[in-house]
Amino acid sequence: MGRVMMGVAAGVAVAACAVATVVVGRRVRSRRKWKRVVGVLRELEEACETTVGRLRQVVDAMAVEMHAGLASEGGSKLKMLLTFVDNLPTGIEKGNCYALDLGGTNFRVLRVKLGGQRSSILARDVERQPIPQHLMTSTSGDLFDFIASSLLQFVEKEENGSESSSIGRRELGFTFSFPVKQTSVSSGLLIKWTKGFAIEDMVGKDVVECLQQALTRKGLDMRVAALVNDTVGTLALGHYHDADTVAAVIIGTGTNACYMERTDAIIKCQGLLTASGGMVVNMEWGNFWSSHLPRTSYDVDLDVDSPNPNDQGFEKMISGMYLGDIVRRVILRMSQESDIFGPVSSTLLMPFILRTPLVAAMHEDDSPELTEVARIMKDIVEMPDVPLKVRKLIVKVCDVVTRRAARLAAAGIVGILKKIGRDGSGGITSGRSRSDFKMRRTVVAIEGGLYTSYRMFREYLHEALIEILGEDIAKHVILTVTEDGSGIGAALLAASHSSNNVDSVQLL
Ligand code: ADP
Ligand code: MG
Repeated sequence: MGRVMMGVAAGVAVAACAVATVVVGRRVRSRRKWKRVVGVLRELEEACETTVGRLRQVVDAMAVEMHAGLASEGGSKLKMLLTFVDNLPTGIEKGNCYALDLGGTNFRVLRVKLGGQRSSILARDVERQPIPQHLMTSTSGDLFDFIASSLLQFVEKEENGSESSSIGRRELGFTFSFPVKQTSVSSGLLIKWTKGFAIEDMVGKDVVECLQQALTRKGLDMRVAALVNDTVGTLALGHYHDADTVAAVIIGTGTNACYMERTDAIIKCQGLLTASGGMVVNMEWGNFWSSHLPRTSYDVDLDVDSPNPNDQGFEKMISGMYLGDIVRRVILRMSQESDIFGPVSSTLLMPFILRTPLVAAMHEDDSPELTEVARIMKDIVEMPDVPLKVRKLIVKVCDVVTRRAARLAAAGIVGILKKIGRDGSGGITSGRSRSDFKMRRTVVAIEGGLYTSYRMFREYLHEALIEILGEDIAKHVILTVTEDGSGIGAALLAASHSSNNVDSVQLL
């Protein structure tokens, strides 16, 4: 009997040991998997590092590339395009003007009534609509017929009841936010498409001619008085409100910047004369590149998989079109490293399934259980069982990717300020000490959904600006949001370049 008892006891002990071994084994394996996932995060953090030292290197590289792009055609990845806008709106603009804004996810039609004083927009009407996906890769005829139809409907609605004879010829500002080689303020040839557009028959064509022909086809009596980039429109509206505005930055689907440059600094265009002595330069900074940019394997893969590899490198690290996809790639890698996410979701393999507004929503989820993260992972990515500690990791990934983007955008802005001597270093280069150097109030107009709708992005950008410039200088640099600036600014420029005004730009 005693032997039987001992046998049972020994069996139980062996079984208990076996269970314990399995449990411990599982724990060890799970800890290892967790370590691997955390390792992916650590690697990402390291590769995305943006110390203030590194940001200052990016600032310097931006200023150097700006010089190079102004010195010769093709001298830099920065195209530094002439815009033929030499005067920015001051307030004398008066009357009704229309604008079209084409260049991102939405297409906008606008009408503004200008009061003839600074900052005096008496009325504004804006209509937005998404561009049907198939038109982004169709023909120029299809795209411009769609645009002209929308404009016609808008005009008919807006002017319903007005005597058409009292309206006279309408002036239109056309915001076209792709790289264009301008030949005058109201004409320009498309250099290339970006942001997912690809209409081959338009490359090299005059975009104003394409639009003007479509307007004629629809019987709309309207003259395209100004062809502007969205950055230029934003700068125009910024300047209309505040004369200290010297540059404009777009941080939306794509990213770009422009600023007012002295014509004598535009070396590649000898004999350029303007009444003001300056001209707005469209940097096309989305294509900026420098070895100082903190690049990860995810950026490399995203670039290789994109329709425009080796192009728009800065944009691919910063703008709303891409941030979501960088985050998706990191989460995918994590889920491939370990099954703590549950099985790898095939949805997660789909490019651009995780859009940047979703990244913002996860990043800014302050619920204790991270319910928004759980919802997005379940509904969008089809991963229904992501545990809380993994959800926390996902938030961290959003943070790392967004923080890098915002800080790089800040470095870009300081690069422009450095180029035009508004970064506070002027005191040192001119031999004066920093303390007796008087920094001028400097306003940068900003537009774009990523900046305006993503609080954490905005905060990281502001924080980096202060870190790079130092508080004393940074307090003179004001970033202002110009809502619908890209469109309203084009209407303002159409007013100041209307048929009644003479051209103030000459190429000798
Ligand atoms: P576009 O650049 O297309 O002219 P916007 O300036 O409105 O238009 O920017 C839209 C882009 O901004 C979207 O493509 C998206 O990437 C980004 N965005 C919009 N809303 C948010 C948000 N809440 N959080 C983060 N990014 C956003
Ligand atoms: Mg836009």
